[in-house]
Amino acid sequence: DRRMNSWKQYTELSRIAYFSMEIGLTTEIPTYSGGLGVLAGDTIKSAADLKLPMVAVTLISRKGYFRQTFDAQGWQQESSVDWRPEDLLELLPGKALITIENRDVKVQAWLYRVKSPTGGELPVLFLDTDIPGNLAEDRKITDHLYGGDKSYRLKQEIVLGIGGARLLQILGFRVRKYHLNEGHASLLTLELLNHHRLSVEDTWDERASWDTRRVQDKCVFTTHTPVEAGHDRFPYELVERIMGEVIPTDLLQELGGKDELNMTMLALNLSHFVNGVAKKHGEVSQALFPGFEIHAITNGIHPFTWGSPYMMTLFDKYLPGWANEPELLVRVDIIPDAEIQDAHAGAKAYLFQYIEEVAGVKFDPELLTIGFARRATAYKRANMIFSDPTLLKKIGNGKLQLVFAGKAHPQDDHGKKMIQEIRNQTEFFGDDLKIVYLPNYNIDVASRLIPGVDIWLNNPQRPLEASGTSGMKAALNGVPNFSVLDGWWIEGHIEGVTGWSIGPPPTETSTNVNHSDEDVKDLYRKLEKTIIPLYYDDRKAWTKVMKNAIGKNAYYFNKHVMMRRYVTEAYLR
Ligand SMILES: *Cc1c(COP(=O)(O)O)cnc(C)c1O
Repeated sequence: DRRMNSWKQYTELSRIAYFSMEIGLTTEIPTYSGGLGVLAGDTIKSAADLKLPMVAVTLISRKGYFRQTFDAQGWQQESSVDWRPEDLLELLPGKALITIENRDVKVQAWLYRVKSPTGGELPVLFLDTDIPGNLAEDRKITDHLYGGDKSYRLKQEIVLGIGGARLLQILGFRVRKYHLNEGHASLLTLELLNHHRLSVEDTWDERASWDTRRVQDKCVFTTHTPVEAGHDRFPYELVERIMGEVIPTDLLQELGGKDELNMTMLALNLSHFVNGVAKKHGEVSQALFPGFEIHAITNGIHPFTWGSPYMMTLFDKYLPGWANEPELLVRVDIIPDAEIQDAHAGAKAYLFQYIEEVAGVKFDPELLTIGFARRATAYKRANMIFSDPTLLKKIGNGKLQLVFAGKAHPQDDHGKKMIQEIRNQTEFFGDDLKIVYLPNYNIDVASRLIPGVDIWLNNPQRPLEASGTSGMKAALNGVPNFSVLDGWWIEGHIEGVTGWSIGPPPTETSTNVNHSDEDVKDLYRKLEKTIIPLYYDDRKAWTKVMKNAIGKNAYYFNKHVMMRRYVTEAYLR
């Protein structure tokens, strides 16, 4: 039938299969939790813009990550996100069988077509086990993104890696490279090992029949986690109980780690190209995994997704073609200052309207507004600006407004406490320094929040921010960064020109050093002595920094630049 033919067209070209546990394309498809998923979504959109032959594979996450609300005490409450895949996606024919706890489990895929204004188009497959005939508990495997315990996670990774690889084959996709976005899909390497197995008679010995070289040639691995503890790992008893013996145990231990199955190790051993997501993160990862060659390809954002309508109209007027060739933003200086200021004022008013609707607080468009939004997890230190509330009050009374957002993982009480602490600051600061914590941070909230503030604050504990991407979204909208020198900002920062740094230069390669005290002092000092005076007393110089954020940061830190590097440095090798 017609429909079937229309998806079959995707199988005509051999493709790069991009595997990611989470993908964030739009708010309506809630199959992402934060930066990793949004990055994956932006990657796919840019690949479509550039007409790259790609197919993306992820999980359907029928209950989403979660919807965030707050109780009267400011404590985060979670509820399932209800969405109906059948309203947005097409169910594809064909089911893969995988083995979990000795049972057959069927896996099916839903199709979403990413279409670019350039005419490029590519398929995203959402894997799903909620199929009649599967055991009730197996039908829930693809419900909750990052939910459940270790065994639930392992089952999801089997669906993603092994189920995904098998479904691509059943549907007729020809894959020239597999790109593993983080270690969650590493099990696909085992499927490939089985697939490429040589006959024992030809190779003489059993070990040599497992042709790791052929699998390596097919795989590209991007690591995102700069700490050892952050990498997914599973005890071998659990692996054996849930997966059985997919490849001989001694071979699995050789490739995936002696004591536990480490998904990062497995991917490192079976990929010919491995990269971190910023230069510094490449170095940190290299120190974590000596013996492997780790490259660095700095992340980027999809400009058309993250430009506010106000700024995009302006770019269209002065720099036509910028969305598919963001390098054109280097000429931002041809745009008159007043028009940049107007566009920003538009985005600011649009955000403030939202703040009033959601939080019932009226922000003043004249005041310097600081934004901070990202996953609420300890190392991101969302509450750092409140380290000395009395000093902040002294510096900021009548001059500052603060807007926050971000979800804590349901099991992360520390993250929830951090949010609660921020939400409970409002009383101490009163009306002279308004503070709002917006609920339910997601792609929609981000695209309204980030362009509408005047400065984007980021103060993670170094070197834990592998890259960070929200600061790039800010820069694109003429919102300068005020950030600790970590991740991409080490590459984008020119002091007082593109924005401002917080704390000392980035010399460490481990997490043993904690610069909190220095960071806090520097944050207050720069706010008081540099940023607040510049904003209020020299609007021309301020606008110059806004333009530099666009012309010196956004022109480079975008997905188009990044994708071209993946193609030339990873996919074509
Ligand atoms: C961009 C984005 C992030 C990533 O934020 P970082 O500051 O880079 O960690 C997280 N969540 C959402 C919804 C985003 O759009």
